[in-house]
Amino acid sequence: MKLKIGGHSYEVQFVEGLGISLGILTKTEDTIKISEELSVSQQESTLLHEILHAVADNFGLDLPEQTISILEGGLYQVLKDNYDLDLLNIKNNKKEE
Ligand SMILES: [Zn+2]
Repeated sequence: MKLKIGGHSYEVQFVEGLGISLGILTKTEDTIKISEELSVSQQESTLLHEILHAVADNFGLDLPEQTISILEGGLYQVLKDNYDLDLLNIKNNKKEE
């Protein structure tokens, strides 16, 4: 899977042996590595975490790890609990209020 973030194309890889890291953003290789050992929901949340790091890096935002983690948790909950909300096509949403 590839993700375009800030004009860069990142290869998302699910790998074993990341040690204590759940995910790693490697700008020199334009990769996002996610631990294969995590549950699916943890992989999804970790991918969002690494996306937030990439966005922050690409736009020169020096966000503390705690801020990234809080945004990860908050956005992951909204995206999961509103999975049928088409955020980029909000005028045509069929979701009930
Ligand atoms: Zn992080």
